[in-house]
Amino acid sequence: MRFNRTHNIDEIKLDMIGQKVILGGWVEDLRKLGKMTFLTIRDVTGIAQVIVKGELNAQIENLNRQSVLRISGTIQGTKAKDFDYEVNAEKIEVLAKAIHPLPIDPLGRLESNIDTRLNSRAIDMRNQKTASIFKLRHHVLSSIRKTLIEKKFIEINTPKIIGSASEGGANLFSLDYFGKTAYLAQSPQLYKEQMTIGLERVFEIASFYRAEKSHTGRHLAEFTSVDIEAAFMDYTDVMSILESLILDVYKFTSINCKEEQKIIGHEIKVRSSPFERITYSNVFDEVKAAGVKLEFGDDLLDSHLRIVGEKHPGFYFITDWPLKLKPFYTREKDDDPSLSRSFDLQYGYLELSSGGTRLHDSEVLKSRLREQGLDPAQFVDHLKAFDWGMPPHAGWGLGLERLMMTLTGIDNVREVILYPRDPDRLTP
Ligand code: ATP
Ligand code: MN
Repeated sequence: MRFNRTHNIDEIKLDMIGQKVILGGWVEDLRKLGKMTFLTIRDVTGIAQVIVKGELNAQIENLNRQSVLRISGTIQGTKAKDFDYEVNAEKIEVLAKAIHPLPIDPLGRLESNIDTRLNSRAIDMRNQKTASIFKLRHHVLSSIRKTLIEKKFIEINTPKIIGSASEGGANLFSLDYFGKTAYLAQSPQLYKEQMTIGLERVFEIASFYRAEKSHTGRHLAEFTSVDIEAAFMDYTDVMSILESLILDVYKFTSINCKEEQKIIGHEIKVRSSPFERITYSNVFDEVKAAGVKLEFGDDLLDSHLRIVGEKHPGFYFITDWPLKLKPFYTREKDDDPSLSRSFDLQYGYLELSSGGTRLHDSEVLKSRLREQGLDPAQFVDHLKAFDWGMPPHAGWGLGLERLMMTLTGIDNVREVILYPRDPDRLTP
């Protein structure tokens, strides 16, 4: 048996009155009025009203909402105020039956908590707000790829199962690999740097893993990272790329995701450039001015960033961090080697991205590894590449889910990833 449809619901236009169509989708609502049933059916593109008359009603007797139907019928005008047309059913096939009650109400008339929704994610996706978040996410990804490809970046895929810790041992998941210990990659850092040798400008969009026992609205054990690395660039160059990527995403989605914004209930406002660039030193002064005890060189904690975020509500960069706060591969500043050529992109209190200019001299890199208490012997495979013509390079990693939080105005990262992994959630 074939299950073809002649049209998606959004392809039906008023000038098709009198035409026969075959639709397929999920029953959203059923209302019986005497010998007639008003049925609404939804596919991923829209919703249509179907009129079921006479004997055909036997087909949908006792049918629950969210059951899957294929309906053949004729388009006709309607008096219904929510629809421009209706479908007069001639044949109805029940392709799958849904149970009643469902674990959650996909119409959202009965509110369910986030845990119940995540436990029933497939049916949660029939909730139009949830579906809109993931349609938006799809458009965000396509906009990101478009921008990076236009800027001559080449998309790569680096390994997720790795033999040694890429950025030091903390926060790594380990697993048994044919009797050896392997780890899940926490970032593509070392591989993307190596790829600047042959490909110069690379990007990767992939899942990475952090064994962080964080219970926050912004940390996941498995998250999606957008990474770039580029030869012959400095941190200011890759900051400009990041800024135009964010501007492009906001512009593209504000224009192309009107329906999604309406359903999510959050307007995407086109952003203006340039984003404010504030040094760590300035941020330090701002935090101190708020009466908080902080030493120059201390990392900025959530509580500090909340203060800074109050003053800078939109996108802004924090640049020139103390070198010791940044990973071993970060390059120092020429005029003050205690500071680094680095930045974080913030949205208010929320960190979206970290990046910088990288070291490309293997001797300096080795001594930085030692300074940070890491063993260069653990990094031989990586260090080798630095003797094969490593160009100066810079890059960043951007958390896709964090970017989605800014676009949707939702402050729980679990809402914007399909099946979140956190310390309390490994299934479904
Ligand atoms: P944070 O301080 O917020 O824990 P980080 O500085 O440890 O983040 P980086 O190593 O700089 O994270 O990773 C680059 C980007 O990847 C971050 O700016 C963030 O957007 C995203 N990211 C990192 N860890 C996570 C996580 N556990 N869950 C979701 N996104 C993450
Ligand atoms: Mn960071």
